[in-house]
Amino acid sequence: MRHLCDSHLHLQDARLDLWRSEVVEELRSLQVIHWGVNGTGPDDWDAVSDLARHHAEVIPSFGLHPWKVRHALEGWESSLRSILESHPQAGVGEIGLDKWVSEPTLAVQIPAFLLQLTVANDLQRPVTIHCLKAWGTLLRLFREHPDCVPVRGFLLHSFGGPAEMVPALVRLGARFSFSGYFLEPRKETVCRTFREIPRDRVLVETDAPDMLLPAGLDGYGLLREGRRVNHPGNIERILVGLAGVLDCGVDELAGQTLANHEALFGC
Ligand SMILES: [Zn+2]
Repeated sequence: MRHLCDSHLHLQDARLDLWRSEVVEELRSLQVIHWGVNGTGPDDWDAVSDLARHHAEVIPSFGLHPWKVRHALEGWESSLRSILESHPQAGVGEIGLDKWVSEPTLAVQIPAFLLQLTVANDLQRPVTIHCLKAWGTLLRLFREHPDCVPVRGFLLHSFGGPAEMVPALVRLGARFSFSGYFLEPRKETVCRTFREIPRDRVLVETDAPDMLLPAGLDGYGLLREGRRVNHPGNIERILVGLAGVLDCGVDELAGQTLANHEALFGC
């Protein structure tokens, strides 16, 4: 039986509260052996830590998400360091830059992003980056602050950036993960970009409970307060979808994405 991994999800998210134990069972029955559970701020780091302590499959990451930068309480940086120190396998994430939201502005997001990249390098941890509509800024920051380029490598989760930036990002140590949302017909450009990415840099993720697959591909149909919720078990369908995009075998892609995940996260 093939082993799978979900390189980026938010299993701690309250939208999964009703189903968390069933989700855990389902991931085990699908042989999903690594779960890259990402925190988004001090308010969910303890929940991520608990999941990591109770489930051997969890590779946690702790970070302050760009959307939460303005409201983080004073002292969050030292809390981040200490929770990372208590989880020697953990990465730094989800951190990043987001120009799709109007608030907080990039000017507010950038100092928190750079600070967390410094922490990641101090502690020698891999980084998971969220980047929306800020690709030029990301490359400029890495150029201006070479000591902030993650020495352990980094994952650009749900990568929807321009194909022409892929070579520069690869040289900086980037990995790129594909999520189910990209199986929407209007996301064909992203699929084309994934065909250009070196195969040893491609990963797969659900970003559950977000980044929904097209409704016809969703294997679970979870609904909460009338809104669809992405079930992490959809990782298998995302992998099958990506194999179609890349025109390769599902088992071959499962093995490659698992090896790529293990190389980055050291598991
Ligand atoms: Zn995420």
